[in-house]
Amino acid sequence: MSIDQAVNVGLPVNIGRAPGSGPQAPAPEPLPSGARLLKSERNWWFLGPGGVARLRDRHVTPEGALLPDAERRLHESGMFAPGRISSYALTVLTSTHCNLGCGYCFQNTAQDQAGGSRPPRIGRSRLTSDTITQILGFTERQMAAAGLEKLRILLFGGEPLLNPRGCLELLERAADIAPTSAWMISNATLLTPHLARRLADLGLTSVQVTFDGDRADHDRIRVGRADGGATFDRIVGNIAGACEATALQWTLRVNVSQETFHGVDALIDRLAGALDPARCTLYFARIGDVGVGYANSLLHTGELPAAFGRWQRRALDLGFTVSRPGARKTCVTCGHTDGRYGAVVSADGTLASCWETAGKPDWEVGTVADGYQPAERTRDRWIACQDLYRYDEDARTLARFRDSVDTALLDYLHETGRL
Ligand code: SF4
Repeated sequence: MSIDQAVNVGLPVNIGRAPGSGPQAPAPEPLPSGARLLKSERNWWFLGPGGVARLRDRHVTPEGALLPDAERRLHESGMFAPGRISSYALTVLTSTHCNLGCGYCFQNTAQDQAGGSRPPRIGRSRLTSDTITQILGFTERQMAAAGLEKLRILLFGGEPLLNPRGCLELLERAADIAPTSAWMISNATLLTPHLARRLADLGLTSVQVTFDGDRADHDRIRVGRADGGATFDRIVGNIAGACEATALQWTLRVNVSQETFHGVDALIDRLAGALDPARCTLYFARIGDVGVGYANSLLHTGELPAAFGRWQRRALDLGFTVSRPGARKTCVTCGHTDGRYGAVVSADGTLASCWETAGKPDWEVGTVADGYQPAERTRDRWIACQDLYRYDEDARTLARFRDSVDTALLDYLHETGRL
């Protein structure tokens, strides 16, 4: 066996069944450690926690299982070795409120019955100094129990920058308990160069910002909660301003729905013209419904896989980063039912298992003051990423979509010498 390419992988992506195995074929045993095996036209791609390898037909059975010699050599090369967790992952909602009114937001409790930009949301709370004290005490105890010495904070909301003082104080005081770095998921409408600089000085390294398609679509969907006003130009301008003031990196998430689909090609070019692609990772995500009545009629079949492939290639050609597909990963926060390696804390100090349930009263699994409730009481509330999303398609269709998009990306990275 020759392992033609071996690289460290980036973001976690999904399920590892070869798309060539038809409905009647016996399903190969799942690979260990979340590894995946994808069939492309010219070769096979092995995606393990230790990297990506290009394999030939002689390494794989017709049903899509690794042959023993190939599997042994991948083990020997460390391709199945799980990555080491080096930091405690702490997500904190600094504000549960938001200044935008996106209809698909998983923190909505229903749609806006008046058809406007004010869907009802989870209860409003705001991070205070006292709660920060409790959060940091809890975090110190959890880090000691897990034997972790570094802290990675996610500033989350609602919109975290509705409480800039809470963000700054949390980062400043966290540095007293451990070496701290941070990232933030923000709509970026409130990010000034001055605030970006202060956050970066306290350890913020990257920000994830969402676009709902090209400008006209975005300005119809991702609107101000109070006035329904447009936000595209403000967001792009704020990112550009923060880029000049700091070394922050950006992850630009592009929401894909029936409303945004046709504008994504133009959006990619527009973003490349307005921002520095070398500082941005672009990723595309079909929006789902967590049960708040948001309808996305776009299916994971038809032209969608090809469109994802085209967008990724265009983004790469314009100088953006597109994260390499990798092995299926266990989420460091919700993937461990005792919260061993991370926690999600709402602004009032309640604990949730996952971002998607944070701030929702029926989903609490503890508080930072008292710790996690016993597992037998939280079992039904311990959900993981994506558990709440509802799709009109079955899991096999979703897996085929992901596999085909990832295979096309790996082929292109390989062809263009980027792997
Ligand atoms: S900007 Fe984010 S938190 Fe605010 S409404 Fe939209 S999706 Fe929800």
